[in-house]
Amino acid sequence: MTKFNILVIEDEKNISDFISKTLTAHGYHTVSATTGAAALSLVTSLCPDVILLDLGLPDIDGMEIIRQVRTWSETPIIVVSARTQEEDKVQALDAGADDYLTKPFGTSELLARIRTSLRHSNKIQNGMSFSQKPYSAKGLKIDFYKRTISLNGEFIHLTPVEYKIVAFLAQNSGKVMTYSAVMNNVWGPYAESDNKILRVNMANIRRKLEKNPAEPIYIFTEVGVGYRMTDDEETIL
Ligand code: CA
Repeated sequence: MTKFNILVIEDEKNISDFISKTLTAHGYHTVSATTGAAALSLVTSLCPDVILLDLGLPDIDGMEIIRQVRTWSETPIIVVSARTQEEDKVQALDAGADDYLTKPFGTSELLARIRTSLRHSNKIQNGMSFSQKPYSAKGLKIDFYKRTISLNGEFIHLTPVEYKIVAFLAQNSGKVMTYSAVMNNVWGPYAESDNKILRVNMANIRRKLEKNPAEPIYIFTEVGVGYRMTDDEETIL
């Protein structure tokens, strides 16, 4: 079996070492870059399967790296950023990053983000539609053909807008979706920039799906960024 190749772009040695050691121990091959210039040339020569990118590099802004890579490559990019920089995360996602990790992060979070990114990029490469297989996690099932949602075998009634929101998040399960990405998907390009209508719908969705809407187990809020739906159990690598 050919190992997946992960490019780690990070100028802080202790973080870079932690990521590389963790990934190597879990069967991945890693290559490290400590500057943006080195990173860009490695992206071209190495064609990595996933890129882990620290936004704060000594030479080139991480945002610029995302833009340059996205002009020719669909390789998943997971941004590594500090907790206080929500605005940066949103900008990075809108520029084409697939997801982000917030420092400090643990081993299981790192591995989960990588698995999710690989799963999504494999589906795209194989030309499979996200909507072909039903979604299933923790007793929640979504059939995208029949447009039905059931919780522990009981059908849940959602409004058409609520269904669209949940289906979009489920088809991107495990990944964070920004508020604007959800708004654009559900209400189209002329969606209001204010996300109040989305938050109102989400409150109603949680009342229907979650046992305790204050402590959701299906749809999580990523503060200041968007929503992340729990990963589909049947397709975890
Ligand atoms: Ca840095």
